Amino acid sequence: MRASPPAGGSVGSVLCQITQTPQAECRGSQVNVHENEGANEDGDLGLTFQTYPAHNVPQMQTPGEGSAVSEERCVMKKKTLAVVVCLFCSILSPVYARLVDTVPMIVRADSEATVTLTFADEPLLAKPDDVQVEYICADGLDSAGVPLGYGCFQPVASVVRDNTLTVSVRFRGETAHTLRVIQKSSDPKKPNVLGIARLYSLCPDFFALRPYRGNMHMHSKFSDGNKNESPALMVATCRKLGHDFAIETDHRSYAGSLDAIEAFSKLPTDMKTFPGEEVHSPGNNVHILSLGASESITDWFTKSKTEYDQAVAAEQAKLPDTIPDRFKYPIAASFAVWDKIRACGGIAVFCHPYWRPAYRQYIPAVVSDYLLQTAKFDAVEVLNTDSSELGILHYHELRAQGLKIAGIGVTDAHSSKHLEPAYTLILAETLDFPSLAKNIRLRNCAAVDIDPVSKRQTVIGEFRFSRYALFLLHHFYPLQNEVCKKEGEWLLKALEGDEQAIASLKASQGTTPALRTKYWQK
Ligand SMILES: [Zn+2]
Ligand SMILES: [Zn+2]
Repeated sequence: MRASPPAGGSVGSVLCQITQTPQAECRGSQVNVHENEGANEDGDLGLTFQTYPAHNVPQMQTPGEGSAVSEERCVMKKKTLAVVVCLFCSILSPVYARLVDTVPMIVRADSEATVTLTFADEPLLAKPDDVQVEYICADGLDSAGVPLGYGCFQPVASVVRDNTLTVSVRFRGETAHTLRVIQKSSDPKKPNVLGIARLYSLCPDFFALRPYRGNMHMHSKFSDGNKNESPALMVATCRKLGHDFAIETDHRSYAGSLDAIEAFSKLPTDMKTFPGEEVHSPGNNVHILSLGASESITDWFTKSKTEYDQAVAAEQAKLPDTIPDRFKYPIAASFAVWDKIRACGGIAVFCHPYWRPAYRQYIPAVVSDYLLQTAKFDAVEVLNTDSSELGILHYHELRAQGLKIAGIGVTDAHSSKHLEPAYTLILAETLDFPSLAKNIRLRNCAAVDIDPVSKRQTVIGEFRFSRYALFLLHHFYPLQNEVCKKEGEWLLKALEGDEQAIASLKASQGTTPALRTKYWQK
């Protein structure tokens, strides 16, 4: 079964068109090049590149003589230069994007949704009969689940009103979908594509959640980070990078994270920061993150050493004889610390298992293997600078063995210059720590690696989550990144007391939450 043909249209049941990349077409006096249309998951913003027609370029006049003339000649030269620069820029830059918005972007699986596509400067919308919307599901089937041939789309009915086009489609299953808008009268083999809209449909459990990205491991002047950089500066820099939250985790210092929380409590911002510290407990060289705990874990074993000793001894007594005695203490101490973090409402993280200072793993493989196999932490750092390669391999191996392990990506930055290469994407009910913690435990998260040169993002996590995460990184987060970049710059200035920056932050507050309200189906 296939969907009915569009009302009032004469198009057959299935349009079969194979697009090429890039496409060039001639419309009137302008040349448009469609960048990557129908080519792949990336770069499909439906942008057009416009060149001026030759007859619009001003002609040089014959110069006269004398100083007034040479002044005129100088002006003419400048004008000519300006025209040449404009012409050059117009070739390189998109003058306008014809499809500028798609609402909603995230819809419920297996239900019908009405989607509005908004165009800018699209004269063809004035001729609705010449506009055709086509649909394809990422699985290659139409909305009823019937296979379509390679390059084929399913035509769907649409309503045009001013600069908007509305369609109703049943989005089958949990996957990505594409709506392509073409000029009906154009060459079927090389249609004039007015825009390509991407959507993702979700089952109820994921649909109830919203994405939040953050970095949860960084150092400042409160430990061995940059001596001129405060925890709040590190968090503000994370906002510039597009994050929704960041957690300062100085060595043996819960106070650093509280300093950031205090600074941010005075600023009008949607950027969140929570308590954290990197824990180094007595007799245990395993590095541990305590995230969101209600108290300092360092203070606990410092002030209540007896309680710590008893907790470690109890854990040590439970360990099997297969573990050599000399390796039992760090394992038992890690278990005791992780339990204490959880008792304080926090998330217990096993840091960088494969960190290799001075040519060797920082903890014996006997210890790291046992900690990974027993998985008594809430999350492990799959990505942490140069520990990442083996971290990724072991994470995949453990999952292949059937272990359910939450993996996170962090930068462990000791300077604001090094905050970019990794982060964690989490789906949560709201942007507060209890909700983030609950969903890390449910493994509704994945580590994201950013290539420092190409900026390509790689998601490392469970398939269902990661496939959705990829869609969000390509299609939702670009909408947020520009806002975050500006807000991050204002935050940095606001931390130095800049009143204008505080006013700008106030005006911008609510923008990133509003994106989630706008782009998720009501
Ligand atoms: Zn560490
Ligand atoms: Zn660290």
